[in-house]
Amino acid sequence: MAEILKAKPVADAMKDEMIRRVEALKAKGIIPKLAIIRVGARPDDLYYEGGAKKTCASVGMECQVFEFPENIEQEAFEKAVIEVGAKKDVNGILMFSPLPKHLNERKIRNLIPVEKDVDCLTTSGAAKVFTDDPTGFPPCTPSACMEMLRFYNIPIKGKRCVVVGRSLVVGKPLAMLLLRENGTVTICHSRTENLPEVCKEGEIVIAAVGKAKMLKANYFKAGQTVIDVGINPDPDNPGKYCGDVDFAEVEPIVAKISPVPGGVGSITTSVLCKHTIMACEMQNQ
Ligand code: NDP
Repeated sequence: MAEILKAKPVADAMKDEMIRRVEALKAKGIIPKLAIIRVGARPDDLYYEGGAKKTCASVGMECQVFEFPENIEQEAFEKAVIEVGAKKDVNGILMFSPLPKHLNERKIRNLIPVEKDVDCLTTSGAAKVFTDDPTGFPPCTPSACMEMLRFYNIPIKGKRCVVVGRSLVVGKPLAMLLLRENGTVTICHSRTENLPEVCKEGEIVIAAVGKAKMLKANYFKAGQTVIDVGINPDPDNPGKYCGDVDFAEVEPIVAKISPVPGGVGSITTSVLCKHTIMACEMQNQ
């Protein structure tokens, strides 16, 4: 039986620390504020937004949503994003993506001031993460994986870490964060040969593939720590979600495993708030 790496204790510990930091800022007359920029009303975005608002409120932060119609034109949206970015009381900005196809997303993302880029949406923000600049914020999901490993005291230094997935949102920045902690990192992707064998070599295996239950028993061995980033519709349970790891097959084999739901995904809004508090602290030094 593996130890289940649940999100709730991680999120609870983060909340206590955030409350302390927000109180310290409030004592100086500053209230950290997250701005959420949303175009349209996709159910997934609304769900995440609801979670972010709740987490902000629970630690004493402010959160304001800036909502725009799906048919907004490039020029008008650019102007709006610049305006949100310039607001003195806004310390961190989250913008949902993808934006509607008619908008130039790369251009718009880069209008977010880098010091308020708490989810690594800008090229300058990504450059900071990839050059180990501590003033840059990694995307919230890889940071959530690191929070989980830290909370459960899972050693990274010198350990073999296998990251399956190389997206700019999860896999690549996560590999950088593991390297920063002196892990020995292998990044896998759709062209990796003998993926099950490569995964078996990892002491820590992190799955960020986007394929329901793809990593089966033959990818794992005893003693491993498995972090499952995937959020996929569960083919066996309509209306439910599952990870990239086949939990039922893998849990009896490995030492530690994060569940889906109730794993990494449940820490991301806490990370978003933590990044915004850190941004606020840096902006008010
Ligand atoms: P992407 O689709 O952008 O990237 C998937 C990665 O997996 C790619 O690098 C791809 O390789 C690789 N891959 C796909 N198929 C295979 C395969 N058969 N073997 C090996 N590698 C493969 O996804 P994201 O990184 O955005 O998301 C990954 C998962 O994490 C999804 O389930 C998503 O829902 C979830 N997610 C969860 C979040 C959370 O908060 N928990 C937030 C963001 C995402 P290649 O580059 O070669 O195509």
